Amino acid sequence: MSYLALDQVVKRFGAHTVIDGVSLAAEQGEFVVFVGPSGCGKSTLLRLVAGLEEVSAGDVHIAGRCVTDVDPAARGVAMVFQSYALYPHMSVRQNMAFGMRMARAPKPEIERRITEAARILQIENLLDRRPRELSGGQRQRVAIGRAIVRDPKIFLFDEPLSNLDAELRGQMRIEIARLHRTFGATMVYVTHDQVEAMTLADRIVVLRAGRVEQIGSPAQLYDSPANTFVAGFIGSPR
Ligand code: ADP
Ligand code: MG
Repeated sequence: MSYLALDQVVKRFGAHTVIDGVSLAAEQGEFVVFVGPSGCGKSTLLRLVAGLEEVSAGDVHIAGRCVTDVDPAARGVAMVFQSYALYPHMSVRQNMAFGMRMARAPKPEIERRITEAARILQIENLLDRRPRELSGGQRQRVAIGRAIVRDPKIFLFDEPLSNLDAELRGQMRIEIARLHRTFGATMVYVTHDQVEAMTLADRIVVLRAGRVEQIGSPAQLYDSPANTFVAGFIGSPR
């Protein structure tokens, strides 16, 4: 049985259909990457999985449970945004603790998880700083750390590296791959970057105007793109 399943998911904003019947079944531990042009619905799809938006039709299943009507906090997902979305007035430690404090986790447990995540991401020496005292790469590590401490069933990444320079992007890409190996968590990752898609993905989903154009392994899409649109995204370096 699949771990994350989207069943004919539709999302409309007023008269505008943004997600137009998307189905997908991802296995536990699978790394799924969504690619597609700006405005095709990638962020909306992640927000529907996270429960930050309600579906107009269709269903979302996580770990065998229909979560279509379940609150974001109870879905067991954690999202990492392009803009980091850190609380500026809180220290790194407070940023990482926030979600667990809201869920009333015991203090020693919160401390233990922060220490562990900080070690994995090599941000132990940054825990007492504020976000404005950090570089872009450090902020993104903190944003990822904040997701890790919640021990989510599924990580959702919305273009997490697109604000970083090329060198840092390369480093963080390797870190994210390492994270995936370490936790074996299911990951859904949105990117514009062909290299990220090709190197991180078990499977790539190509979206166009709210519909799935093709789903396959990087090799399948590279070797046998369904059409010139897919070939334009995966085949040719951009
Ligand atoms: P992507 O992440 O692929 O660039 P988005 O999911 O952000 O695309 O947006 C897909 C489409 O949905 C766009 O046309 C966008 O304008 C529209 N859209 C997204 N969020 C809203 C909203 N809250 N209200 C109305 N339209 C929206
Ligand atoms: Mg987006």
